[in-house]
Amino acid sequence: MPNEQIPGIDPDVPPSGEGCAQCLAGDGPGWWFHLRRCAQCGRIGCCDTSPAQHATRHAREAGHPLLASFEPGEDWFWSIETEEFYEGPPLHPPVSHPVDQPVPGPQGAVPADWQDHLH
Ligand SMILES: [Zn+2]
Ligand SMILES: [Zn+2]
Repeated sequence: MPNEQIPGIDPDVPPSGEGCAQCLAGDGPGWWFHLRRCAQCGRIGCCDTSPAQHATRHAREAGHPLLASFEPGEDWFWSIETEEFYEGPPLHPPVSHPVDQPVPGPQGAVPADWQDHLH
């Protein structure tokens, strides 16, 4: 049986990497608080509390409305359209960043006064 497709969720797409794709590419201050995963295309972005808020920006620009948590132990989805949480199917692994990756991350890029930069 093929996976039943939910609009905005493609469970067959692996995540783009272990950290925010745009932060790691040098867009913004280069660190994040928590990570989110685009449920449609797998792009990893930083959360709305992070300085650069790349996940929501990607969701808006790409028209991919559902974000999944990319934090260990979390399996919820968030819709930027309804601003509500949802449950969804298991996504292609890995379903979180490595547990030894620091929060905030990535290692070595977080300033000492990081809490002053959160939203
Ligand atoms: Zn980012
Ligand atoms: Zn996407």
